[in-house]
Amino acid sequence: MTSDTLFTKIIKHDIHADILFQDERVTAFRDINPQAPTHILIIPNKEIPTVNDISDEDESVLGYLFVVAKKLAGQENIDKDGYRLLVNCGKHAGQEVFHLHMHLFGGKPLGRMVQLEDSF
Ligand code: 5GP
Repeated sequence: MTSDTLFTKIIKHDIHADILFQDERVTAFRDINPQAPTHILIIPNKEIPTVNDISDEDESVLGYLFVVAKKLAGQENIDKDGYRLLVNCGKHAGQEVFHLHMHLFGGKPLGRMVQLEDSF
């Protein structure tokens, strides 16, 4: 019996993903349902469900997500034109997988940051 998240199974290579980078702290792989020409997920190997669950000891690995994102953006040749880094947290953000992850989107103009609503 295992309680591994879907993404932990990817980290452990128990299920397949197109992994672009992996070391002892972070794994990055292509999103299965890309929303842009480049859509990569960058995740801490440690299971942290949401941003609400981070602790002081996670500060270093969370900063490292940005370092890996920057390197991957260069590898994907989207660094010059720009890209978007996004972390969803919880229901209102539409988080689907409860293993904290940073999205890296790029390869086309990405539009507005937040969908326009009638009012808020
Ligand atoms: P969230 O909405 O939680 O911020 O993003 C979850 C992301 O995980 C979605 O973009 C979704 O397409 C991606 N995803 C869900 N299941 C899998 C999977 O099995 N493999 C990969 N590579 N991506 C997945």
